[in-house]
Parts: sequence; C-alpha cells; structure tokens
Amino acid sequence: MGQVDKVVIVVFDGLRPDMIAGRMPVLQAFLGDNLWFRNARSVFPSLTRVCTTSVSTGTWPGRHGIVNNQFHLNGDLGGPLVDTARIDDLVKLTDRAGAIVTSDSLGQRLVVAGRSMMAIHCGSAGSGMLVNHAVRENGQRTFSVHGADATLTPEIVPGILAECGPLPSHDVPKLDVVAYTGRVATEVALAQDQADVTLVWLPEPDTSFHFCGIHSEGADKAMRAADTVFGEILQTVADGPFTSRTAVLALSDHGQIATSAIVDLAGLLRADGFRAGGVPGDDTDILLTGGNMGEMRPITPDPELIADLGRWLMQRDEIGMVFADPETVEGALPCAAVHQTHARSAPLLYVMRSDQTLGPGGLPGIGVYTGGVPLGGGMHGGLNRFEMNTVLGIAVPGGRQRETEDAPASLIDVAPTVLDLLGSSFECEGRVLPIFAPEPEQAEVETLQARSGHFAQRLVRSKIAGRSYLIEGERAEPEAS
Ligand SMILES: [Zn+2]
Repeated sequence: MGQVDKVVIVVFDGLRPDMIAGRMPVLQAFLGDNLWFRNARSVFPSLTRVCTTSVSTGTWPGRHGIVNNQFHLNGDLGGPLVDTARIDDLVKLTDRAGAIVTSDSLGQRLVVAGRSMMAIHCGSAGSGMLVNHAVRENGQRTFSVHGADATLTPEIVPGILAECGPLPSHDVPKLDVVAYTGRVATEVALAQDQADVTLVWLPEPDTSFHFCGIHSEGADKAMRAADTVFGEILQTVADGPFTSRTAVLALSDHGQIATSAIVDLAGLLRADGFRAGGVPGDDTDILLTGGNMGEMRPITPDPELIADLGRWLMQRDEIGMVFADPETVEGALPCAAVHQTHARSAPLLYVMRSDQTLGPGGLPGIGVYTGGVPLGGGMHGGLNRFEMNTVLGIAVPGGRQRETEDAPASLIDVAPTVLDLLGSSFECEGRVLPIFAPEPEQAEVETLQARSGHFAQRLVRSKIAGRSYLIEGERAEPEAS
C-alpha cells in the first residue's frame, strides 16, 4: 500500500525557478506551502526530449539513449539524422539501433504495478511519445494537443474533442494551448476515470521564452496562463474524491538563458578546413549539431581528427566547454562526467560560452549560440546554472510542508519517487526523494576542472546516495601559473 492512490504531475516546460515570484502566485504559494527542492537540476544536454526521457525512465541519457534532441547515430553515420521531435524518426530507431529508449519507463513499471497512466501533452509529437514510449502496449493513454497524428493513442482524441471542443490555435504565447490543456486536465483526465498517474506537460513558458525573449510581455502572459491552469488543476484535485490520497508534483525540465550573438560554427569550421556539416554528404566528413551545445562526430572514427577539433574549439572565445576522452583531447572533461556514456553518445561535445551576468530585465544568464531561435530569444541545452536549475515541488498528504530542501535532486528522481508514493519500487538511476523526512546524509559538492593553454573549464557536481548530480558548468579563467 502506497502513501497515496493518485499522483498528478504538472510540468512547466522551460520554467526558471527564479522567475516564479511576482509572476506565478499559485505556483509560488504551492512551493511555499509544500516541499520545494531549490537545488533541483536538469540533465545534459538540458534539452526537452532528453529531459522528458529522463523524467519517464529515471535514468541519465547515458542509460536511456535519447542523447540529444537531434543526433546522428553511431554505427550508421551515413544514415539520416535522428530528429527526436518526429515519431517516425523514433520508431525507426527500433530497426536502426535495436530500441527507441534503452531503459524501462515509468509507464512500463506502472503496468507491472497494476497502475494506469494518462498524459496530456503539448510539445512535439516526439516528446509526446517519449513521456511514455510504450503507451500502446501498456494500455495507457496519451493525448496530444496536436491531435490524432501526434499521439500513439489516437483513439482517445475524438472523445476529448467532443468534450472540450476543437483543438486550440498554436499562436505564441501559447495561451490557447495552455487553456485547452487545462480543460482536458480538469474536465476529462481528473474528472472521469482518473488514472493513477496523470501527467500534464505545458509548453509554456518555454515557447514564449524562445520566441518572445525571457524578459518579455509574451513570456509574462504565458507564465500567468500556466499558473492559472495549475490553480484549476489544484482546485479540481481538492474538490475531487481522492484529495486526501493524492500527491501533486510541479516541475520544469530545464531553464533558459538569454542570447547575445549567433555564431556560425559550421562556417568557422569550414573556413579553417574542417569538412563539417549537418548531414552526411560528399563534402562532409564531420557531422555537427548546434544550439547552445552540440556534438561532433567524424563519419569515419578518427582520434586525430577529434583531437584537432578539440584543440580548435578551445582556441575559440565563443566556446564554453568541451567534453571528450581527455586522453585524446587535452583539456577536455570526460563525457562520463555529464552521464554521456551511451553507445549513441558523441565522441566530442561542446557547450557554447555563457555566464551569469545580467541580461535583459536584470535576469542573470546570457550566452552565445549557433542558431535555432531569433537573436534575443531564450535558449537552453548547456550547463549554465540558469539552464540547469529546475522547478521541483511536491505536495503529499502527511509529507513535509513549508520546507525548502537543499539536497540535490534531478529529473531522474521523479519516476522512482512517484512509484514509491504508490507503494512500488523502480530500479533506475534516480533516488526516492526525501518527502517525509530529510536524508541523514549531507551532499558532497565536487568541482572537476580541466585546462589546456588559454582554455579552462569547470564542472560542479553534487553527490548524494551514491549518485552524482550535475549542478553547473562553465568556462573558467585559466589560473596564472
Ligand atoms: Zn523543455
């Protein structure tokens, strides 16, 4: 018998905890009244589909295999890019790489425990798949606000349209989407045949941060709308039959930082003689992805080329961090330090340079990026504190109230904590969070440093219960020698 019978998880995509006060009164009150993990963190890269899969599996990308939002597949580097936003690309991973996700999911574990799950999802079709990739085999339900083509359980869509009206417009800020999602959550998911686990994944404020800017009227409107829906969800739970036996988790998957300049990294590489590009072709022998971070994969494995690329990256002011085998690339930090140890992981990862100086609106965190959203829009993917720090608050009847918790926590802890609350266990990489009493153990902070010439970098991690959580990473000033 678990502590609760029902769990409701609400995800605010991209929400920074330092932006809640003054903008999201319902969420602020929820976090103040319950247990707030102030040091909660994302995974690396801090990108939605990587994060989603860590939430749904309780594992780091080195175990679950969704190693980036877009990645080239080791062993088939001449083949197409895997765009994890697309269901088709994910499905093809079964043939190309043996599996889509290479660790067990919350959905699968719930089936074993005789429990049901429903997700209401607003992101890409691929993200909606990754919240519960075996939803069809599991006999569970996922609804997408993009309609029947964007979910593996399209049969539930007509009934929801009949109940809640036609699908919303996707104008940014996504106020219509957020409001519609609230209706589906409160009028269908929590009102009729409520699943044991209900997951509501809101697209805001992520979308508005990206396209309006973190400090913008659009972002503020989006946060208010998401907060209103959260209030409606809490009210529905409070008015419902399971209120004394329901846990509510509020979280975000990553934060965002402001952008100050676009860097044409592929162009700079080409100007220096590296045949780098986004797709395999006659004139490309290094596959590259970009954003706030990216990967580099020589089509033909070549340690010397990786060493050259690593040296090149470290000579550029626009580069923040470099991960590779330090035996090959002097000054790199090992990919294992950020849990990128999957057979699919790239041999060389870079993070664009950012820092914690104040950006627009006095919000800290600003960096350069290779593109993807208009200049001035927010971005994420890297290891900046304001990309990594996430929202994580938990309300459980009988649990700790009006407390903040400084112990490290991450997305990988959500699934084991949910299963524990429901009276089951889940062997994964995350831990059951200390909801009823603080842990006896103190976390131990460790800083990894590496340097080569004028390039230096540091990565801060925090260890507890045999796990190593990512805190933040950045380029450092080389110490005078
Ligand atoms: Zn996200």
